Amino acid sequence: MKVIMLGAPGAGKGTQAKRLAAEYNIPHISTGDIFRANIKGGTELGKKAKGYMDAGQLVPDELVCDLVVDRISQDDAKNGYVLDGFPRTIPQAEALDAALAAKGENVDYAVNIDVPDEAIISRMSGRRACVGCGATYHIIFNAPKVADVCDVCGSKLIIRDDDKPETVRNRLSVYHAQTQPLIDYYDAKGLVVNIDGTKDMDAVFAEILEKIGK
Ligand code: AMP
Repeated sequence: MKVIMLGAPGAGKGTQAKRLAAEYNIPHISTGDIFRANIKGGTELGKKAKGYMDAGQLVPDELVCDLVVDRISQDDAKNGYVLDGFPRTIPQAEALDAALAAKGENVDYAVNIDVPDEAIISRMSGRRACVGCGATYHIIFNAPKVADVCDVCGSKLIIRDDDKPETVRNRLSVYHAQTQPLIDYYDAKGLVVNIDGTKDMDAVFAEILEKIGK
């Protein structure tokens, strides 16, 4: 099962992608997580990506595509994967298709989680991320047991630079200009599954499972 998650930043892709990956026992591959781990580790890739991420811009395709093609070729991905945050541009989708076609494979579903911009802006203002392990929370929808403390590792929770309001507005306009066209791209291949992302997390997950035939 090879699934890609589409939807605006803050639509709930990450949460649903993790649950879907656990359900099918396949890896959850988040390019945002890969970049954040590289920034934390002080790698060359992290240094190159940070400026774009903090400004709410996309990291250039050439820094993303090889990394993903390499990741999905690893052993744990042989039964499939859930791609979260990739592809984000038409050239990235074409690079993914080309890499899969070379192995006689293809994407099974493009799950599009639909949430209006106004709902996204109010949601993002409540997001918190752990400085230690990267776990994510929401002060209303997915609150940590103790305010500002990670349930998983006990580290402090912060607002990620890319969740700050001015960055969120930038990220939404980047999404509409560069990523939304992917809905038509995958629709033309008959792969899009549209999901109402305004419902609560469990209802959204149930709708995904129902529509992809679990
Ligand atoms: P995310 O955690 O998926 O919201 O990603 C956070 C940030 O990482 C994005 O705003 C981009 O700056 C960068 N990023 C993640 N995935 C990609 C991608 N596929 N292409 C370009 N930039 C990306």
